[in-house]
Amino acid sequence: MIAPHVSDTDALYLIKVGEIHLKDGNRTEFDDRLKYDIKHRLAGIKTELSSREGRFYLRIDEKESTRAEYVLSHTPGVNGWARAHRVRKDIESIEEAAATVISPYLEAGPQSFKIEARRSDKGFPLDSYGVAREIGGRLLRRFPGLSVDVHTPALVVNIEIREKAYVFILGGSGVRGLPVGSGGRGLLLLSGGIDSPVAGFRMLSRGLALESLHFHSYPYTSREAWEKVRDLASALACYAGGMLLHTLSFTEVQLKIQKDAREEYATLYLRACMMMAADMVAKKLKLNSIVTGESLGQVASQTAENMRFTGSFTDMALLRPLVGTDKEDIMRQARTIGTYDLSIQPYDDCCVLFTPKHPVLKAAYEKSREEFLAMGFEKSVAETIDSMNTVRLPCAFTPLREP
Ligand code: ATP
Ligand code: MG
Repeated sequence: MIAPHVSDTDALYLIKVGEIHLKDGNRTEFDDRLKYDIKHRLAGIKTELSSREGRFYLRIDEKESTRAEYVLSHTPGVNGWARAHRVRKDIESIEEAAATVISPYLEAGPQSFKIEARRSDKGFPLDSYGVAREIGGRLLRRFPGLSVDVHTPALVVNIEIREKAYVFILGGSGVRGLPVGSGGRGLLLLSGGIDSPVAGFRMLSRGLALESLHFHSYPYTSREAWEKVRDLASALACYAGGMLLHTLSFTEVQLKIQKDAREEYATLYLRACMMMAADMVAKKLKLNSIVTGESLGQVASQTAENMRFTGSFTDMALLRPLVGTDKEDIMRQARTIGTYDLSIQPYDDCCVLFTPKHPVLKAAYEKSREEFLAMGFEKSVAETIDSMNTVRLPCAFTPLREP
């Protein structure tokens, strides 16, 4: 129920939840998790969040509406949202509200529309079809730029007749997917590149809460390179609701690889050491999976054979959400989620140090594992974890538009 003591001048949002609808058995758990997440992101602000008939309703002080819209646009599990007009249940008030929601769209020129009405108050004199017909007719007479298109309308005006009448156009789009944490908590291997932030975003939107792990090779990599990774983790924190970024120094490990390994195996062995470290960290932090931004065939270390090799250094669930995604599509998504411009800043990642001219493309599994294990990397990798550095990155609020 929407609590009665909230003033009618507060902003009211209708929230369409996503795939939660598929989860019949544990629906309440998913609902509760999403509600908790939205409330947590709006901590310190007086809000009322309720659910009814498969929708959420958020009521919040008008002054906080920009922040609310930011949160609703960045929270996995939210499919879409709308600022709703809540009016008296009479045709004139509903017409006024419908005119108010539709008129900004008409500034751009003529528009097609349809009305979708739902009547859960069966005492209301018109049924859903009657409401749609009546309000549709009135809007057509009122706005010459409007035309009806029931199949592919540009605008859908929603009218819901409940204890009051709600009128809205679903304008804001959400991240979709599942509430963060419903899939457990994983470890994202976050480099400064384009791919891993996108991989992280994809898993966040599948409900996997994330902590990030970055390997640097100071002084071979710079302070700025780490700051770039921190900024990428901060960008992901906006979707995650906050993020822990762990950093390990891999300088010693890389120097050992350079000293002991055959040159063409340097990158592959570095990846194997990263996987070993990720496995140890994930287990220490009791996480359920490891996430990477690998994509089949993108570079030499990402052939199926080499991914088999690196993947063999963990028995955790190893999630590679980009494995079948084209680089251009990854770049497009990086732009959409706001990480692309950070990723293309030109700071060296530790992977480019001591990069072999001719990296091995298809490691022979048994032979390479034997050779790698004989070099005894486990001890030097474990030592890096003893001095792991962790920062907590908040879900920084950046307004979508100037208030
Ligand atoms: P990205 O893949 O993020 O664009 P990249 O192309 O520099 O960065 P790749 O060589 O494709 O990195 O590495 C594959 C994956 O290995 C990355 O997506 C990331 O998950 C992980 N990885 C690589 N370098 C690092 C690092 N320095 N710290 C943490 N993870 C890393
Ligand atoms: Mg990559």
